[in-house]
Amino acid sequence: MRPFHYAQPDSTAEALAAIGAGSAAADETRLPAPPQYLAGGTNLLDLMKIGVAQPPALVDLARLRREHGAIAADGNALKLGALARMAEAAEHPAVLRDYPVIAQSLRLAASQQLRNMATLGGNVLQRTRCSYFRDPSWSACNKRQPGSGCAAIKGVHRRLAVLGVSDHCIAHFPGDFAIALAALGATVELLAPGGERRSLDFEALHRLPGDTPDVETVLRPGELITGFTVPAGPWTRRSLYLKIRDRESYDFALASAAVALQIEGGVVRQARIGLGGLVAKPWRSHVAEAVLAGRPLDRATAEAAAEAAFVGAVTHRETEFKPELGRRTLVRALLEAARMEV
Ligand code: SF4
Repeated sequence: MRPFHYAQPDSTAEALAAIGAGSAAADETRLPAPPQYLAGGTNLLDLMKIGVAQPPALVDLARLRREHGAIAADGNALKLGALARMAEAAEHPAVLRDYPVIAQSLRLAASQQLRNMATLGGNVLQRTRCSYFRDPSWSACNKRQPGSGCAAIKGVHRRLAVLGVSDHCIAHFPGDFAIALAALGATVELLAPGGERRSLDFEALHRLPGDTPDVETVLRPGELITGFTVPAGPWTRRSLYLKIRDRESYDFALASAAVALQIEGGVVRQARIGLGGLVAKPWRSHVAEAVLAGRPLDRATAEAAAEAAFVGAVTHRETEFKPELGRRTLVRALLEAARMEV
């Protein structure tokens, strides 16, 4: 691991000042990487050890948990502090009762040890597991080294994406919790070094790879994720997260579906659908939701929604099985959610 500057501020104001100062120092020394926030560290420290991430400075947010680590719910929304641990959210009574899709996505994401350490804000910013991205000995990776090519397209790519990919990158977003947030129409709260606050649709936080796969989010320099707001609705209790993986014991998804349904009189009034495992970014399928609205949820309807969800999927040699796996995952999730007793 390369040497780096380290700061552990006591407040948000100090953290924002430290990241701002770090950015200035990086500019002066012409360092290629900007300073970064350190939350749970379960992804960033990993990437630093293998030489993929080389931030010149880290601003540790550990002492800011009192400001940004709360979880609260009322009749309007669920508020999740960005520095809440995954385990805290997964085990919170209101989340378990009213937002089961969130609790399940967190529980299925990682081992208890990792859930005890990793934060919600860090979790949504985790990087792809593409092998070529994670191994700097490979020179061709547009995400790690812009303009260098993509070794995965003609190489090993079974775990990578089929929705949202480009000719420049077919990497997958590996997270689970973010898929539930996208499905439920959450917003993400942001705070800039100058003190400006803004709120974004969570769906808009991550970018598609296009021809700049190295730019993964719309975050501005030094901007801090402070929390997430999940709107309450009559669909959140009838919700679940289904994750399909090679092994049942903590693995990244090959395909996943986050679904939430409002069903009245045997008819779907509203549906919320997120897809994971085979997507370039956290994915909400509005087209699949539209197929379900106003119809009884039987196998034929679920299959029609799944068909719509994968229109436009782009496969490569090792990912030809994925659209069908994704469709079956979504059908199963929808039918299981329809059977839930709420
Ligand atoms: Fe890099 Fe993306 Fe290609 Fe993987 S798929 S090698 S992350 S450019």
